Amino acid sequence: MHEFSTMQAIVNAILEEAEKYKAKEINKVVLQIGELTFLGEEQMKFAFDILKEGTLLEKAELLIEKVQARVRCKCGYKGSIDYGMKEEFHITIPILKCPKCGSEVEIIKGRECTIKKVEMEVPDVPVKR
Ligand SMILES: [Zn+2]
Repeated sequence: MHEFSTMQAIVNAILEEAEKYKAKEINKVVLQIGELTFLGEEQMKFAFDILKEGTLLEKAELLIEKVQARVRCKCGYKGSIDYGMKEEFHITIPILKCPKCGSEVEIIKGRECTIKKVEMEVPDVPVKR
């Protein structure tokens, strides 16, 4: 399950960060997920619910922001990509070709999977290191 391993890495990164700040609890996590990652939002949330058990993330709310794909072509085209139906799989897949001239395009946006924001409870007193 692609989503599970991705979420595992995200959860680990957040918990590591929370430890640095000596967080007591994490309230909210905002993720940005590009549409070209093919990560399912529901599956991501499901994985998060399992992984957060017994951690500082236990009560955290997970928000997922979808990032639309943006491509650039040598002909000057810049924008979204076309989606086509691939018959044999019955799924919609993005066509990584320029809608204007048909050349291969360069992906500018849509492949990211980033932690945009983490809200956590930290002690009021600065921690001495
Ligand atoms: Zn083009």
